[in-house]
Amino acid sequence: MQALEYEINTLYSSQGQTPFTTVGFGLGTSWIEREIQKAILQIRIEGLGKEKRTAIFPKLVFTIKKGLNFAPGEPNYDIKSLAVDCATKRMYPDILMYDKIVELTGSFKAPMGCRSFLQGWHDENGKEVNAGRMNLGVVTVNLPRIALEANGDTEKFWKILEERLDICREALVFKVNRVKDATPENAPILYQFGAFGKRLEKDQSVDELFKNKRATVSLGYIGLYEVGAAFYGPDWEHNAEAKAFTVNIVKNLWEHCNDWGNEYGYHFSVYGTPSESLTDTFCRLDAEKFGLVPNITDKDYYTNSFHYDIRKPVTPFEKLDFEKDYPKYCSGGFIHYCEYPNLKQNPKALEAVWDYAYDKIGYLGTNTPIDQCFECGFKGEFMPTERGFKCPDCGNTNPETCDVVKRTCGYLGNPQKRPMIHGRHKEIVTRVKHMSLGNDATSAARQG
Ligand SMILES: [Zn+2]
Repeated sequence: MQALEYEINTLYSSQGQTPFTTVGFGLGTSWIEREIQKAILQIRIEGLGKEKRTAIFPKLVFTIKKGLNFAPGEPNYDIKSLAVDCATKRMYPDILMYDKIVELTGSFKAPMGCRSFLQGWHDENGKEVNAGRMNLGVVTVNLPRIALEANGDTEKFWKILEERLDICREALVFKVNRVKDATPENAPILYQFGAFGKRLEKDQSVDELFKNKRATVSLGYIGLYEVGAAFYGPDWEHNAEAKAFTVNIVKNLWEHCNDWGNEYGYHFSVYGTPSESLTDTFCRLDAEKFGLVPNITDKDYYTNSFHYDIRKPVTPFEKLDFEKDYPKYCSGGFIHYCEYPNLKQNPKALEAVWDYAYDKIGYLGTNTPIDQCFECGFKGEFMPTERGFKCPDCGNTNPETCDVVKRTCGYLGNPQKRPMIHGRHKEIVTRVKHMSLGNDATSAARQG
């Protein structure tokens, strides 16, 4: 595990990025499976290099399952405790709730990448298959723009949405057809040598691997919070009508996807786009078109998928209760996050949130301050400034001597090392400011 971590964190792709990788684990009970799980967590807790930096990759996703590792006395409870400890120190692992993932996506599997989920599928022999399956791409609909165009008229909103979804359908079908232009020889590792699960002959159609809903293709969306704000004002989270309206939007996307799936034979799924750049792009384009609309375009970012407005002080429990109603209709991709203060001295607080989440949501990430300064020894939350993150004790901003780790999409990142997109930076700064204010979320986690 240590070799793998060093290998991945010192590799760069031709884009200059570390390869995005995710490791899912947590279910095995034999002695060797338990040893592997423990090693994954122990190595991550230990840190990279002599400075003990936080490893960014691979992303770790740990599965919690009742009867296996949920409560004291269960065979792998010790490993869950280690996972909790690891998350307080290194943010990962994110966690999957076994039963909820089965309920939402039709079978159990870890996400592909940061949050994309295959949907349950059986081959011609009735056998459940996940390995070797794939997603053919995503097209994201800009929901806040439709809300701004509708200008308070919900009927108009649904009408414009219908038109936009027709464009999305066309774009998704175009993507599928474009991929189908490939021949097995174009990418032999994928098509001929088994990476996609079945070995094709040179002259076979690659569609053999995609059709009959073996492949998924996704309709993404962004900015449900902004849509709610456009129709019901910025504080709509406790307004039942507003909540129902936003749930119905996701449900509407889901119904369209079901129809398209039956029409075209690929699994169209609804996906909460990670939007590491769309959060900025869509908002900027709409600010040009509609001006600075309070709580919508004036923030410089759109809120990810169904997430709670990050500017509000909210407890992890309230946040999960609010968000839990959406993934039922967007099982192609979803993740929830909760924000916490420094949890290193209080892992039980984090475990309390994990346990609370078990029957409610499928996939949960932890955001907690784990920055380190190697100049003065500070550990905690670096301060966001216009020019990057700064050590609150000695003012250090040098990426060589600080380890700043923030969640930049579904993945962690080192914002100090790579300049961030403006909107994403603003979103993280907003989040960090609320964490440092000692808001209700932090006190709840302390009590947790
Ligand atoms: Zn310092």
